[in-house]
Amino acid sequence: MQKKGKVIIFSAPSGSGKTTIVKHLIANNPDLGFSISACTRDKRGREEQNGKDYYFLTPEEFRSKIEKEEFIEWEEVYQGNFYGTLKSEIDRIWNEGKNVIFDVDVKGGLNLKEYFGNKALAVFVKVPSIEELKSRLNDRGTDSEHSISQRVFKAKFELGFENKFDVTLLNESLDESLEKAQTLYDEFKEN
Ligand code: 5GP
Repeated sequence: MQKKGKVIIFSAPSGSGKTTIVKHLIANNPDLGFSISACTRDKRGREEQNGKDYYFLTPEEFRSKIEKEEFIEWEEVYQGNFYGTLKSEIDRIWNEGKNVIFDVDVKGGLNLKEYFGNKALAVFVKVPSIEELKSRLNDRGTDSEHSISQRVFKAKFELGFENKFDVTLLNESLDESLEKAQTLYDEFKEN
């Protein structure tokens, strides 16, 4: 893989608002390309598309890509649900002359930060509290009770990794967070 462009990584416990922030940056920055992860979970209703939000794979397809070393990193993020970053995604985006933007969980974010070194800016998106996180997951209305409790359990663990990231973005007011994220990207790409 050629090491060219830069990468900006957004990591957070599920429900912190990072996907909204990432989508906003993509919509407003034509020089950013989204790294579409592969995953084995079910598609969420009509709001998600294969090849846009994720590459939705069967567990067998995912395993075969692990064996062929097609991933930079992969993880069983939730029990039985695998997620991973494909090497081919980075090539695709850098070949378009763009910087890469990632939406991954906390462990994946740290693995990517290590892999890309000083080409990466790793941003930890933080919710004000676990209670706020629970209510956001409930309001989202896309996850079962089991899925929400798995996500909250994992979030409590993930909050301990904040200080390993380059910067924290506290997501209290979405408008302000969107602005802060844009400023972070502008400053990062100029340096
Ligand atoms: P969701 O099921 O809500 O789309 O994603 C669950 C979690 O997996 C989120 O925190 C999401 O950012 C993370 N995730 C998505 N793609 C990847 C990936 O390629 N690698 C890792 N490690 N986590 C990912």
